[in-house]
Amino acid sequence: MALRELLEALATEGLQNGWLRRETFDPQQLVVTDSGVVYGESVRARHIIFCEGSAATQNPYFNWLPLRPNQGEVLDVECPGLSEAQVLNRGAYVVPLGQQRFRVGATYRRPPFAESITDEARQELSHKLSTMTDQPFVVTGQRMGMRPTVPDRKPLVGTHPARPVVSICNGFGSKGVMIAPRLAAHFADVLEGTAELWSEVNIERYSALYLASLSEAGVSS
Ligand SMILES: Cc1cc2nc3c(=O)[nH]c(=O)nc-3n(C[C@H](O)[C@H](O)[C@H](O)COP(=O)(O)OP(=O)(O)OC[C@H]3O[C@@H](n4cnc5c(N)ncnc54)[C@H](O)[C@@H]3O)c2cc1C
Repeated sequence: MALRELLEALATEGLQNGWLRRETFDPQQLVVTDSGVVYGESVRARHIIFCEGSAATQNPYFNWLPLRPNQGEVLDVECPGLSEAQVLNRGAYVVPLGQQRFRVGATYRRPPFAESITDEARQELSHKLSTMTDQPFVVTGQRMGMRPTVPDRKPLVGTHPARPVVSICNGFGSKGVMIAPRLAAHFADVLEGTAELWSEVNIERYSALYLASLSEAGVSS
């Protein structure tokens, strides 16, 4: 099953079983106390974990963390002559999707970001593919997304220094699909008190930035 279908299937299950709601989270509606959180009229919880990817740069609790969004694009191509027996990787990756279709990726762009998919990315990835195969291909799709990257290339996981019921699970950069499930399970254990958070991913390593944000705001720690 492709990743998009897997996420869609999980979302459908969540909506049906009531553990997922599809709506835009509004931080103005969140009330945080020492013992838990209340959101809007209907949600009460012991804890909130923000998992909002690049949007966390605007998060009022965690905007001091060094999250650096990076934009990326991929192409879908049809290339009947190309073998589907392996993934190619040389400056770009080419992943077989079946039925002579392939995913070719990816580009990296720092701000300023493009509003939508670009000709530049299409040309760059088409060129890279043409250096890996002499078979003709047709571009059938193009998509873009954001990577939530961190300068030290490690995730940002942990609990707010002053708000013990508010946490974050983010900063997966270009490896979220690979590492987020494992780290989410680990963090659940941490919050249940059965594991200690891996120090490499702990947001505590950036506590100096938190203190600097307080003094910038004129708050004493
Ligand atoms: C082109 C490209 C190729 C990639 N290839 C790979 C790869 O091959 N392997 C790999 O492991 N990773 C890859 N990645 C990286 C991977 O996609 C990210 O690491 C991963 O998506 C990060 O997951 P996340 O859940 O933290 O953030 P996101 O996937 O960005 O999810 C955050 C979600 O929160 C939602 N959200 C934000 N704010 C709100 C709000 N206020 N209310 C409601 N919802 C909100 C967003 O809409 C979004 O759905 C790639 C990324 C790109 C861009």
